[in-house]
Amino acid sequence: MENTTSGAKGLLQKTELLFEYGRLDVSGVDVAPIANPQVRLGNMKRQQNPQLPGLTEPEAVRHYVRLSQRNYAIDLGMFPLGSCTMKHNPRLNEAMARLAGFADIHPLQPQSTVQGALELMHELSFWLTTLTGMQAVALSPKAGAHGEQCGMLAIRAALDANGQQHRRRVLVPKSAHGTNPATAAQCGFSVDEIGQTANGRVDFADFYAKLGDDVAAVMITNPNTCGLFEPQIKEIADAIHAAGGYFYCDGANFNAIVGKVKIAELGVDAMHINLHKTFSTPHGGGGPGSGPTVLSAALAPFAPVPLVVKTANGFELVENASGEAEQAFGRMVAFHGQMGMYVRALAYMLSHGSDGLKQVAEDAVLNANYILASLKDVMSPAFEGYCMHEALFDDSFLEGTGVTTLDFAKAMIDEGFHPMTMYFPLVVHGAMLIEPTETESKNTLDGFIASMRALAVAAKSNDISKFDHAPHLAPSKRLDEVMAARKPVLKYV
Ligand SMILES: *Cc1c(COP(=O)(O)O)cnc(C)c1O
Repeated sequence: MENTTSGAKGLLQKTELLFEYGRLDVSGVDVAPIANPQVRLGNMKRQQNPQLPGLTEPEAVRHYVRLSQRNYAIDLGMFPLGSCTMKHNPRLNEAMARLAGFADIHPLQPQSTVQGALELMHELSFWLTTLTGMQAVALSPKAGAHGEQCGMLAIRAALDANGQQHRRRVLVPKSAHGTNPATAAQCGFSVDEIGQTANGRVDFADFYAKLGDDVAAVMITNPNTCGLFEPQIKEIADAIHAAGGYFYCDGANFNAIVGKVKIAELGVDAMHINLHKTFSTPHGGGGPGSGPTVLSAALAPFAPVPLVVKTANGFELVENASGEAEQAFGRMVAFHGQMGMYVRALAYMLSHGSDGLKQVAEDAVLNANYILASLKDVMSPAFEGYCMHEALFDDSFLEGTGVTTLDFAKAMIDEGFHPMTMYFPLVVHGAMLIEPTETESKNTLDGFIASMRALAVAAKSNDISKFDHAPHLAPSKRLDEVMAARKPVLKYV
């Protein structure tokens, strides 16, 4: 049986749009009519009630709970999205972020009344610079991409201050996350691509050949987006410095090396840290991100305002580009950044301790290698050898089956798993990038591996019923993603 009279299936309720079943004459609250209202709007007075659909209170609650049940979430199951570090968000962090002294303050409050919040920002800055060995940190960027912009603007400001305005070319590896070239271009640089070797690393010879006195910086992700450590990272740093440029490190994959590697010792000048990846704060719809950017001594003077400093009178926000922030390139945000994320990230760091953070990296790498080793006989690893925190497969194991990476991902939905990252990095054909993170138990990983194996075996034995038109069991089937992106319908008519 496919359909029911009600549209519900079992206990999974049908979900309609508010506009489809809300009524204009219904409201969830009773407001007593105001006697003799004074209208001060003149001819701006509304002629008609707003055409907003109303629901009773229980209907409104059910509407959103039903929608939430259609949504996959990290609290529901494993989220193997590579490059995203989708780890569990500890409840302790949430409890800390809801403390009134952090949650109920206003950015324009007098600084004397928010000393605790400023101290927290100061302490978070201390641990971010300690973990990376870097000189300074700009806390305010609100995402990884925003942090990249912060780092590249600091590089631009440093070049300009040193009379190096002619340096406007930025080297970016082919496998880079799309935000890297986009950031460089947005900051007024031209982008020059560096090739990749057959074993998934930066082609050092190509990089070296592309250096020149117009090069501003190189942007490199380490571990890279193939989930592999870049062994020549120090040589790359030394070469870019010798050529007069800066080294921007994309720190989105910091989870694989947190507590193990001091970024400063690799010769990095600027690196963003995604608090919503490595430090377990929620992603996207679960809450805004945060992308603090650590800076070397060469770039620290150009860090954007605001910054928190400790004085004899307590903690102070330096808000203007004067005094110790004289060379600040400007500011990234209206106020101070994402307070709630700062609290969650610091709670995570302090609850792990330095030994625990090291363990995070070790367990993340172990989990990824467990997946790689458990699936390499039925799927095709993109590169030989161990991986770091994510396992990368290509689609060669599907050759001749008629099943594509997309079909495979859709079949995973029927198995109750959010698909892995697909078709990224672009340098690997039909890429499937799987990042389990350290927070998944062996039990969960074994369940995931069993489903992946079963799908791979089915595809290879030409049993394509699991793939054809998958997902079969999801409330929404294959959506026209191209139409949704190109011609979004944003208004209900
Ligand atoms: C996630 C990610 C980014 C961008 O971070 P956002 O917080 O999503 O803006 C940049 N580079 C890499 C390698 C990433 O994985």
